[in-house]
Amino acid sequence: MSYIGPDNIVKKRKDYFFPAIANFYEDPPQLVSGSMQYLEDHTGKRYLDFFAGVSVMNCGHSNAEIMKDTIEQLTKLQHTTTIYLTEPIVHLAEKLSEILPGNITRTFFCVTGSEANEGALALARMHTNKSGIIALQGGLHGRTHLTLSVTGIPMWRLDDELVKENIFFIDRPYAENETSEISMERSLQQLSTILQKHGSDIGALIIEPIQGNGGIVMYPSTFLKEVKQLLKQYGVLLIVDEVQTGYGRTGKMFAIEHYDIVPDIIVTAKALGNGFPISTFSTTDEIAKSFNKPSASTFGGNALASQTALSVLKYIHDQSLVERAAQLGAYLKEKLLKLESPFIQEIRGIGLMLGMQIQSNTGVELTSANVTDYILEKMKERGFLIGKNGLNRDVIAFQPPLVITKENIDELIIHLEDVFTELIRKEG
Ligand code: PMP
Repeated sequence: MSYIGPDNIVKKRKDYFFPAIANFYEDPPQLVSGSMQYLEDHTGKRYLDFFAGVSVMNCGHSNAEIMKDTIEQLTKLQHTTTIYLTEPIVHLAEKLSEILPGNITRTFFCVTGSEANEGALALARMHTNKSGIIALQGGLHGRTHLTLSVTGIPMWRLDDELVKENIFFIDRPYAENETSEISMERSLQQLSTILQKHGSDIGALIIEPIQGNGGIVMYPSTFLKEVKQLLKQYGVLLIVDEVQTGYGRTGKMFAIEHYDIVPDIIVTAKALGNGFPISTFSTTDEIAKSFNKPSASTFGGNALASQTALSVLKYIHDQSLVERAAQLGAYLKEKLLKLESPFIQEIRGIGLMLGMQIQSNTGVELTSANVTDYILEKMKERGFLIGKNGLNRDVIAFQPPLVITKENIDELIIHLEDVFTELIRKEG
């Protein structure tokens, strides 16, 4: 196989993509194949994938067991519309009703996370007849007009006149150099004030159970319970965006289970298709009745995607990937906590969704974002793909496929230790 190579791809991206496309690396690798937790570039160099395409590939790359079912479905029937009856989508809807928490039993299928969040917000509007929305600073919910507007990260947010006056932000219950009690108190106070003033116009609060792009930020354990109670008083629905956290990533099937509450609407995407585009918003019998537009998404839950998702759920179950994420996540976290470097400020997260907050060392010219980039580059050279996120792009993200092994983690740690030592020497 011959390839045009990374330089030519970078040039074509520069020439034909929108200019704002984000770059992670100085020299991004050109990936040509993948197998479970490994990826390979055009030169044959192998990488351990510790980012999984931002929590997409929970079951690993080109997982043969899952692909077998996808290929069989592809050769039989790829797609029709919901006007006709097909089996995979109903089996999937039934399966989801079994694994989703509480009385959430009804699902609407879409293609992307943004589309499903958009649908969830529309459903809340239809159910409550109120258009106001509350969202969190540091949250990210997608790329459509409304989901860009409820995103709380300045570089991704669309601050648009059309919807602005109906969108209210509260602080996330987390801040550096502050106890979680103080942060939580402030967020709840802000929520309470907004509800007192505008509660009769607000239909939904949308929130990630653990902020992903915002820098792997989890909330104090009682936060969401208190939020739910406040919302209930004002007839506001709680929408939980599990696009990045869903399907085992955090050591529970859904991250909302860590907080011991059942929201009104749950949104999922990414890992459900393990690389195949499929997303969902799901709710209770009562709320689902309010969805009064008899429409379905053209590609949402098509036979190929639904069959793939069914195999993904079977694989997660058969291989105990949820438990695996909990165990290996605890192991990785323990190892990360033991790493000693003046550049590491904090280790956050749960399961295989962990973040390392980087700080710049006093007396060093580099910013924390520069240090993060340096570590990403050096780890890539050593054959490890890790992620970065956070409001200042200075959080290293570890979100590998859930099929990684303990040995993979040990290898990662050895190389991370070396890279941090190099950094000290370089700056020493
Ligand atoms: N919600 C969250 C929490 C996400 O992380 C993302 C994507 N990064 C989205 C929504 C948007 O999903 P998509 O890119 O599939 O539209």
